Amino acid sequence: MKNISYNIKPRTEKINLPDKLGFGIYFTDHMFEMDFTPEKGWHNASIHPLNNFCLHPATSFIHYGQSIFEGLKAFKTVDGQIQIFRPDVHIERMNNSARRLCMPEVDNNFVLEAMKELIAIDSDWIPTKRGEALYIRPFMFGKEPVLGVRPSRDYKFIIILSPVGAYYPEGFKPVKILAQDKYVRTIRKGLGDCKTSANYAASLLAAEEAKEMGYTQVLWLDGVEQKYIEEVGTMNIFIHFKDEIATPMLTGSILPGVTRRSVIQILKEWGYNVTERLISMQEVIDAYDSGNLIGIFGTGTAAIISSLELLTYKDKRMVINNGEVGELDLKLFNELTDIHTGEKEDTRNWVFKVEKKEILV
Ligand SMILES: *Cc1c(COP(=O)(O)O)cnc(C)c1O
Repeated sequence: MKNISYNIKPRTEKINLPDKLGFGIYFTDHMFEMDFTPEKGWHNASIHPLNNFCLHPATSFIHYGQSIFEGLKAFKTVDGQIQIFRPDVHIERMNNSARRLCMPEVDNNFVLEAMKELIAIDSDWIPTKRGEALYIRPFMFGKEPVLGVRPSRDYKFIIILSPVGAYYPEGFKPVKILAQDKYVRTIRKGLGDCKTSANYAASLLAAEEAKEMGYTQVLWLDGVEQKYIEEVGTMNIFIHFKDEIATPMLTGSILPGVTRRSVIQILKEWGYNVTERLISMQEVIDAYDSGNLIGIFGTGTAAIISSLELLTYKDKRMVINNGEVGELDLKLFNELTDIHTGEKEDTRNWVFKVEKKEILV
C-alpha cells in the first residue's frame, strides 16, 4: 500500500494557540488512519479531519490490551523550518512492541512519510517558543469484535498531533522522587521494554500514592528482588557518580528510550565514562553517604531531562546536589533543546525535515 487518500478541511480562521498548552490537551485539525486485515494487509490509509470513532463493545483491545503507542516531537526551528526528532528510531521501536504483542508491523518508510504529510498539513499548529513542541502520538490497537482470548485479526493504526507546552515553563526545576518496593512496573521477560498501555496501567497506583506524599514520581526497582534501580516514572534514569555516569542496562524490563540513547551518545562524545549496567539501590545510597553521588536525572521525550533534588527510599532521604539542578543535567537539557530548535547544527542525523505544504482550497 503506497497511497494516502486526503480529505483536508482548509482552515478559515487563524489558529490561536493558548498561552498555557499543557500536555496532550489540544489536538490539531487532522489525523492519519489506516486499517489492517490479514487478507488486505495495511489499507485504507487516509488523512482526514480529526474525528471520534465508534467501536463495538467487544473490540478486543479494550478487553485484552493489545494496544501500543509511541511519543515523539516535531519542532519549528528558529529559522522557521519544521523538523522531527529521530522518528526512524521511534517507528522501529513501535515495530518491536508490535512483534511482542502479536500485532502486525508497519512499513517504516510509509509511516514516516504519512507522519511528515500530517505534520505538514497541520504545521500551523506547531508552537514556536523554546521548549514547546508538536507532540506526535502514533498508536495501534486490536479492533476485532471477539471475546475469545487470542490475538486480534484486525488492527487500526492512527497518528494524532498535539501542541504541547514547555515541560518547565518557569525554568528548569528539579523534582522529588520516591523509590518504593511496594509495587513494580514490570518484570524481565514481561512487557517492560514495549511501549504498551499495560505498563502504564501497572504504574498508576504507585504514582498516585507518591503524589499524595508530595513526590513528583516513583523510582521503580526491579520486579524480582526490588534491589536494582530501573526507571523513574516514565523516564530512563542516569546516576552521575564521581568517575562514572551509569544507566541501568537494557535487561528486558526497561524501556529503551530514544532520549536515553541520545544522551549516552552525547555524553560519550563529551568524554564522560558512561556505562550501562546493573545499579543497586544500595550502591546509590553508599555513593550518597560517601560523597560520590554527584547527581541523578531522568530522560524522556516529554521532559527531555529531569533533574532530581530529592530521592527517598524507606527512611533514607537523599538531598541531591543541595537540592539544585545539576550542572550536567542542565547542559544536556540545553544541548538537546538546541538541536530541537535548530540553534545547534544536527551533526548526528537525528532530525528529519518536513517540507511545508500549502493547503489548497
Ligand atoms: C516512553 C518511555 C520512556 C522514554 O523514552 P523516550 O524514547 O526517551 O521518550 C522511558 N520509560 C518508559 C516506561 C516509557 O514509556
